[in-house]
Amino acid sequence: MKRRISKSRFQKGLQCEKALWLAINRSELATPVGETLQWTFDQGTSVGRLAQELFGGGVEVTEDFRNPEGALATTASLLTGGATVLYEPAFEHNGAFCRADILVAADDGRWDLYEVKSTASLKAQHVTDAAVQAYAIEGSGVPLRSINVVHLNNTYVWDGVPYDPQALFTIAEVTDDARAFMPQVPAALARFQTMLEGRMPAMRIGSQCTSPYTCDFYEHCHAFLPAEHPVTALPRLPEVVLHRLLDARITSIADIPDDFGGLSAAQAEAVSVVKSGVPHVDAAGLARELGGVTWPVYHLDFETVAPALPLWPGTHPYQTIPFQYSVHVQDSNGRIEHREYLYEGADDPRRALATRLLADLGESGSVAHYTAYERTQLAALAVALPDLAPAIEAVIARLWDLERVVRVHTRHPLSAGRSSIKYVLPAWCPDCSYEGLEIADGQTASVRCLRVLTGVADAGEAEATYAALREYCGLDTWAMVRLLQEMQRLADAPA
Ligand code: SF4
Repeated sequence: MKRRISKSRFQKGLQCEKALWLAINRSELATPVGETLQWTFDQGTSVGRLAQELFGGGVEVTEDFRNPEGALATTASLLTGGATVLYEPAFEHNGAFCRADILVAADDGRWDLYEVKSTASLKAQHVTDAAVQAYAIEGSGVPLRSINVVHLNNTYVWDGVPYDPQALFTIAEVTDDARAFMPQVPAALARFQTMLEGRMPAMRIGSQCTSPYTCDFYEHCHAFLPAEHPVTALPRLPEVVLHRLLDARITSIADIPDDFGGLSAAQAEAVSVVKSGVPHVDAAGLARELGGVTWPVYHLDFETVAPALPLWPGTHPYQTIPFQYSVHVQDSNGRIEHREYLYEGADDPRRALATRLLADLGESGSVAHYTAYERTQLAALAVALPDLAPAIEAVIARLWDLERVVRVHTRHPLSAGRSSIKYVLPAWCPDCSYEGLEIADGQTASVRCLRVLTGVADAGEAEATYAALREYCGLDTWAMVRLLQEMQRLADAPA
């Protein structure tokens, strides 16, 4: 008897057959779903519900994933009974099982299939996803007139009244592309069925581990790498070079031979600094960069949300909205002052935040940031708040990128060529750590804030969230202060 392969497992098999094998045989090895991924799933459910309003009056097949037989029987009964719009109908053919999002009767006796995605654009994997569904549906004797992917329209600007599904969503017809892929479905199913009968496929880690989705078994499959200096930490390492290293049983940067070919200059430099165990510092370059700083330096960091469904009038799906910032002001004598803002209301935070930010940043002094994110947020605020645009543009003109300075002029064995603050901070400033924080990354900060803004969090959780957000964002800019101090020390150190 053929093993039932759901549409999501079919997609998993296309990404990596080992992932499909593990999902079916060793699901306990998957990384547990964390709160940010769960939020994404929940957001997708809300989007799916709204998309049903595009085709109102439908009947939902309510049996859940634990009862596929019941869902198949209910679907068959609804089709026989003359239903014309079905939500979540179930189909199975040749081992392929799917729950379609929306199926609508066309006027020629065929049906239109709508697969709902909470993304803001059509992706290649959506087509193969729709194709395997179409294969199961048509194989069940239900002919399709069209195959479509419904995704969010990120040019839809919400006007504050209930969402207009016709404007909120874009319907992308993918009939031709899906039909072009459908002949490959039975061969892929047969391959998966055979593979699942055997031992776990030997699959090296590679680009498939994060594309098109981060694999559920990422942590499991990467656990063989050493915690310190794994070869995957080399900057922009091509898959072909990674595989050459793994084939040579080299998993640590420290074990890469000096004559190993194919590394870029940045990668070779990272290998050199790791093997030497000694930081490389371009003190003259650092001194030059620091000479370009205008004191006092305002270290700036934003926290943002980007909800799939707009929360405020005038915004669109996935628009990034800052709700918090931290500023540490550092003068040339080493004096430091902390300023911060966290929006605790329910309205659009941008005007209040930008007004306060302009006051906190004063009119002169470099505005230090780490990566381009702060520049992007400031530019977006200038567009959203035209009356404040000249003042915001003046802040943008003061920006000074601390990440570039660290990346260009220093190399540390512990960060091994990586410039993310997550790696650079413990290398240069081990006294400064995110460990033990209730919120320790930007994605969690965003989800926790969204829980408050959407009313999911109760008053107690909201209060705890605000405290944790202040601590986290404040540490982000304190980390920049410490890094700048360290860069000053290195620039001044005798050669
Ligand atoms: S982590 Fe990579 S190699 Fe492992 S199952 Fe997932 S995609 Fe395959």
